[in-house]
Order: sequence, then C-alpha cells, then structure tokens
Amino acid sequence: MIEKLYFVYDVFDVQDTSGHRKVTGVSHYPLLDLKVLSALGYTHLAIIAGPLPLAWAVHEADRHKLRRQTYRDRQGRFARFLGSLTRTPGFKRVAACFNIATCHDCRDVILPAEEDLDILADVLQGRILFDREITQALLERGLHLTGNLYDILQTLILKGAIGRVPSVAVDRFGIASCRRCGNRDVVQAPCSACSSEKCLYCPKCASMGQARACRPLFYSPRNTASLRNVIPGQDVIVSQNKLPGDDDPAFKNEISNIDAAAALNKAIGKARTAFRNPLTVQEPTEPPNASSKKDFEVRLPFELTKAQQHASQLVTDFLENPTCSECLVFAVCGAGKTEVVFQTIAQVLRHGGKVLLAIPRSDVVAEIVPRIASAIPDASILELRGQAKSRYRDADIVVATTHQTIRFFQAFDLVVLDEVDAFPYRGSAILNYAVRRATAPWGNTVFMTATPGRELLRKADRKEIALVRIPARHHGRPLPEPEIIQTRLPLPDEVCRGSSFRGILDRNTSASEAPQGHDKSGQVYGGTGRIAGCGLLLPDKVLAIIERSLAASRKMFVFVPTVELSRLVSAEISASLHVSGYSPADSRRTTLRDSSQPRTPRIASIHAAHPNRELHREAFRTGPIDIIVSTSVLERGITVPDADVLVLYADYERIFDTATLIQMAGRAGRTEDDTQAKVYFAARQVTASMRDAIRLIQDMNRHAAESGYLHSTPI
Ligand SMILES: [Zn+2]
Ligand SMILES: [Zn+2]
Repeated sequence: MIEKLYFVYDVFDVQDTSGHRKVTGVSHYPLLDLKVLSALGYTHLAIIAGPLPLAWAVHEADRHKLRRQTYRDRQGRFARFLGSLTRTPGFKRVAACFNIATCHDCRDVILPAEEDLDILADVLQGRILFDREITQALLERGLHLTGNLYDILQTLILKGAIGRVPSVAVDRFGIASCRRCGNRDVVQAPCSACSSEKCLYCPKCASMGQARACRPLFYSPRNTASLRNVIPGQDVIVSQNKLPGDDDPAFKNEISNIDAAAALNKAIGKARTAFRNPLTVQEPTEPPNASSKKDFEVRLPFELTKAQQHASQLVTDFLENPTCSECLVFAVCGAGKTEVVFQTIAQVLRHGGKVLLAIPRSDVVAEIVPRIASAIPDASILELRGQAKSRYRDADIVVATTHQTIRFFQAFDLVVLDEVDAFPYRGSAILNYAVRRATAPWGNTVFMTATPGRELLRKADRKEIALVRIPARHHGRPLPEPEIIQTRLPLPDEVCRGSSFRGILDRNTSASEAPQGHDKSGQVYGGTGRIAGCGLLLPDKVLAIIERSLAASRKMFVFVPTVELSRLVSAEISASLHVSGYSPADSRRTTLRDSSQPRTPRIASIHAAHPNRELHREAFRTGPIDIIVSTSVLERGITVPDADVLVLYADYERIFDTATLIQMAGRAGRTEDDTQAKVYFAARQVTASMRDAIRLIQDMNRHAAESGYLHSTPI
C-alpha cells in the first residue's frame, strides 16, 4: 500500500501586520487546510517543503518553526545552534516560500460532510490506529463514509478533535523512535510504501502491524468530560497519573506542538469557541446517569469470603481516594482476586466509565471472559486476543492480552492489570508503556498479583500506591509451606557426560520437525529430539516423595528448569516407579481416586512449545494424567484438585526466582476438601530465592491468622 506524501506549509493572515497570526502545518492536501482555516480569517498559504514522507515533513515543520522562533527571538543563539545540528537526510526541499495560495485558489475544494466527521471522531475515541485499522473499524461497525478518508482525518486534526503522529518519528535532534510502542531502536530499510531507500521501521511492534516513518497514526482520547463531574475528587487525579510519554519532551513536542491541531488551538485562542468542534456537539445534553439505564449489578454464584469482602471494599474505596491513582492487590495464590475487583468494575461502569482488564496470557483471558460475563450480565464485553475477529467494537469492559492494549489511547477510567509479574508483561518496557497509555489521565490502575516485584512493594511501603492484601484462600486454610529436600540431584553435565546440556538429537529424528520456541527463560530450544544414550538417576529420597503421593491417590506437579530435563525426569520416573506414559488416544478420563479398579499411574511432560501442550494440561487437570513433569509454563492459571508440588533443581536461580517458586508452590491445596497438600523444594543447596519464597508464604499465613481469616468458612 502506497503511503501519502505530505507538504509543510505556513498559513497566515495578510491583514495582520504583526506577523503573529501564522500557523505551521503538515498536510497531504494544503488547499483543504486553507479552506478550513479561512473560516478563522486566514487568507494565504505558503508551501515550505514537500512532498515528503510524514516523519520528514513533521521534522521539517519542526525545524521551520525553530528557525522562525530564532528569527523572532534575538537571544535564541542556543536554539539556532540546535537547529544547525539537525539535517533532513535523503530529501530535498522543493519549495521555499514561493508557492503561495490564496482563498481564491481553494474555492473549489469540497469540505467533508459533518456526518463523516462525526463518524470518524467516534470510531477513533480512545484509540490510536493506522489508517487501515480505521478502515477495518468502520467495516466492523457497519459504518460508511461518503467522503475521502484522509480529507476527513485532516479536517478533524484541524478542528482539534484528533491528533496525528508519524508511527516512527524523528525528533529535532534527528533521533528516531517508535511512537506506537516507545521503542528507540528503529531500523533503516528500503520501503515500497514511500519509495524511499532509507525509511525507518520499528521491529519491536511489527507483529501488530508495521510502524514506519511514512505511516501516520491517528489518535484521540476518549471524551469523558461529563464523567469527571460524576466521580467525586477525580479532578485532582487528572494531574497525577501522567503517561510516561507526557514526561518525554520529544514526545510532548511531537504530539502537542507540531501537529497543526494543537498549534492551531494555541493560535486561535478565543476564536475556538466559535469554531465547531464535533466532540462538543456529541456531548450528551441530559445528565450521564440518566442516559445509562443499566445498574450493573454484580451477581456471583458464591458468597465472597470475609477476606475477599474486606479487600473488595478497600479497592472500591480506593476509587474515591483523590491522592492515589494506583492500587496493588497482593493476594495469595488461589485467593480469588479477580472476583474482588468485580464490585470496583461495576462502580466505574455505573458512572459511565470504561474498564480494561489486561492480562499477560492469552489462555487466562479466555478463561476470565465468561466469569465476568456471568458476574456483571449488564456489561458489554470485548475479548481481545491474538486471533480475535472483532477488534474495534465499543464495549463497557475490554478484556485483552497486554499486547492488544497498544491500539488504545487514554481510553479507560479503570485499568485492572492481572498477573502483573507474569511473562511477557514483566520487564517489558513496551507493554508497560502501552498499558499506561491506554489509561485515561484521570484513570485509576489496579495491579493484581500473588508475587509483586520489589519495585511495587517499595512503592507500597512509601505509600505511593495503595496496598490491599488478601492473605487467605477462599477455603480459609493456610498455604502449604514448602519443605526443603537437600539432596544431590544429578547435574545435567553429569547426566550427559561428554554431550552438551541441550542433549543430543537422535539421528532418527529430523531436526526440522522439532518445533522452535521460547520458554519463559527466553532461551531457544529445539523440540522433539530424543536424548540418546544418557539417563538420569533421581535420588531415592525424591522418588519416595512421588511414590507417597501416588499411593495416596494424589496428583503431582514436578517442576524442572529446562525442556531437556522435563524429558529426562519423565523417563526416569516412568522407569523407576513403573509409571506408564500417557497417550492422547487413552480416552479414559478417570483419576486414580475415582477408578474402581487399580490402574497404573500415568505420566506426561509439558513445555511451552510442546505439540500436545493444551491436551496434556487438560488431561492432567481433569483425569487420566497423574504426574506432569513441567517447565515453569504451568506455574499459573491452573487448578488441579488433590495435587502436590515437587520443584526439582529449585536452586536453579536463573529460572526459579522467588516469584516463580511462590507461584509453583501455589498450585497445591487449592480446592475445598484438600487438606493434605504438600510442597517440596528439592535442591543441592538452599538459595536466597528459596528462603524468600518460604518466608513470604509464612508471612501471608501469619497475616491471615492475625486477621482472623483462617478457617472462617466451613470446610
Ligand atoms: Zn516508508
Ligand atoms: Zn514500535
């Protein structure tokens, strides 16, 4: 698809002898701009540069304004020096103040219809989209434009209703960065869209559509002027929850100064009130409460526990707190933290607000959507995952993977970020940026996790964010405290002496068939190759633990740090304990406990790129698999009745950090009638992470006991 090229222009009023009524703009069709601006008394337009790809046009406009400023301001030597540092590579200025148009020249230009302006302003509310995404959104909503899309967008920009920014922008120092994901590591490459040999594109967010220097992004915050009057104290918060981009001078400059919209706003001053802004037209005339007839009642199939009720109240109270816009819900694994925020979500919806529930993992999104739908039946819900068919519908609640938040702009009054410490959100500056940008400047954020990082806890200590604890599980029993089994587990190089840690691919297995992927640790592995000629001998102590669980008809999670170890350990347990491997053809969905006749226990392994990952996960949860040997891929989002947890190589700190160990330990003892659950950390040595994990679990149990939450409900 060919991208439009843009002109840089000055528009001015020849009657104004002071020279102050002058606006620098960027447009694909300058005569259209002159026609729109002529309503404000501007009479002439001079082309400064162009046609250029958008990023260079904006860059040129910026330099032009700097030059003008320098000329006006005699003390501006430093600015002149800065201006001289910058160059526009690759493109020649084709015009310099000679190409002048007057109102007479634009008399035949047809301005877009008001309905078209309203439609597009509405579609873009709370979004930041490429033009093709806007077309997709129109299609999805069944809307049709009568005029040219780009002319309508340009008019909206001039009217201050939306903004436009190059998806990869170049600041006045010539430094490029992606405006979509905030990445500063952009790549120079030939581009067919703008026929440039040196276009810039962002590799980081390319999977969501390519951000390029020649490709504009159109954005508009959600218009909730009326909402701010409803929630008490919200006006104070407006100035507090700043987007990271707002603090970045380059970003600020780009968004607020260069675009004609904002420049115009500054220039026209009082005249703005006379100027018809489509958004002011759309403001409801009746009070917002009257327009929303729904009461968003929360209906849960069970009663919240005392701990949950208390937490739910605290989180709802936090909404009213004008001094704090962020809240951390620190819950033990299996405490039912999602249900705790339902009341808060309903509260925001009742005030006409919008809610985003962002979750790092796609499978958890799919699992949560039906729970919310049945709990708040009045609310419309949009589910956004990788393969979502409907992406641009309007909804009260958006449940999305953190990646999908990249298309929202200041849209949500409440953002609930579940599993905030989970991969891939944890440590990702891009996702962090995207989620923050999706939050309205006056919006509130609730972080939910069982294992908050140090930074969040420190903020809570300093009272910068509100802290709400849920120290007890719904059944009111303490978390099983891990027992350390110190034993000489064979090291991988002892297992495969003379071969690499990654194992040897059997010659009979074609390497190309092996699926490639990234496990949580970020390491790349090659999949189904069998390890030839090496076995692993687990110490008797460890085998005895597994045997005990099986004898008690319990299930067992065996966590290991690497994919190779998952196969080796699985083979060793099969051989030593006479456990048979699970085959998907085995359709008998019985557990050891349920089966009327004794049967051989079954074992399977699982990792992020395992071809039967979902199948094994489900079979372990519901029946036929008794032991699952897993990498950390199963550490979250799975509840298996009557299961024990054994973490092998728990001292492998690179993968088993404190948070991961707590999550893995949290797989045990989750169900109502399971009082026997055990957790073991088997390792050669005791690491700081192991000690911290155990200490934190003990802390939570103590806190729960002190708050009177333990055994508060009948077992
Ligand atoms: Zn290009
Ligand atoms: Zn990017």
